[in-house]
Amino acid sequence: MRFDILTIFPGMFDAVLGESIVGRARSEGIIEINAVDIRSFSKDKHRKTDDYPYGGGSGMVMMAQPIYDAYQSIVQHLDYKPKVIYMSPQGKTLNQKLVNSLKENRHLILLCGHYEGVDERIIEEIVDEEISIGDYVLTGGELPAMVLIDAITRTLPGVLSSEESYTEESHFNGMLEYPQYTRPYEFNGRTVPDVLLSGHHANINKWRRQQSLIRTYNKRPDLFEKLDLSEEDRKFMNEYIKHNTENI
Ligand code: SAM
Repeated sequence: MRFDILTIFPGMFDAVLGESIVGRARSEGIIEINAVDIRSFSKDKHRKTDDYPYGGGSGMVMMAQPIYDAYQSIVQHLDYKPKVIYMSPQGKTLNQKLVNSLKENRHLILLCGHYEGVDERIIEEIVDEEISIGDYVLTGGELPAMVLIDAITRTLPGVLSSEESYTEESHFNGMLEYPQYTRPYEFNGRTVPDVLLSGHHANINKWRRQQSLIRTYNKRPDLFEKLDLSEEDRKFMNEYIKHNTENI
């Protein structure tokens, strides 16, 4: 899968996206990431890419022309139209479902804004979708673009050691993941739940599912409400809720 990032800070990406699992996916050719410097497409002698907002007000606005020319430098050689995403606090909030649908694209172009954002006409002209990483405002779209690339990359075939590694994780099936433990068996007097040492896989899976249900119920009741529970899950949770309300 290919990612092109339209940015005025191309140097921000290599440190983060050159390491760990994403870095490995890049060196194995599973993903390709190109940071395209919008400043290189400025017609200004000082490589300016922003200007004052029409109508007044604070801050600067990124100009449409350098972004458009940077975009054209990518698409002019293609015989297909890649999806263009503007990282924006006004966009649809990123979640695992959206990540899973975006991974179906062979090529994404991510536009990173700065200052007060970008000239509205570039959004109208080239952007297919706006995506936010949460209801807060960051200084630029680079961190959100890295978040999006990381989240997509780990779902691509061959990136994690087994498919299980992400299908078992929080949010994949609408639930939070069960607790995890590693050696030593005892830490500060706290031991690992016995079932995990039993070697009995059916019991381990059952325990993990029940822990996921409990965690989701306690930490994210909004997600729990949306779960489509089996009869067995429902029975287990009714018992759990009854027991815990009795003990309050
Ligand atoms: N004036 C804009 C507004 O009120 O909607 C905010 C601009 S913000 C300071 C600058 C840039 O950071 C945006 O153009 C966008 O690319 C990026 N950005 C900020 N917060 C973001 C978020 N939560 N998700 C995605 N991108 C964000």
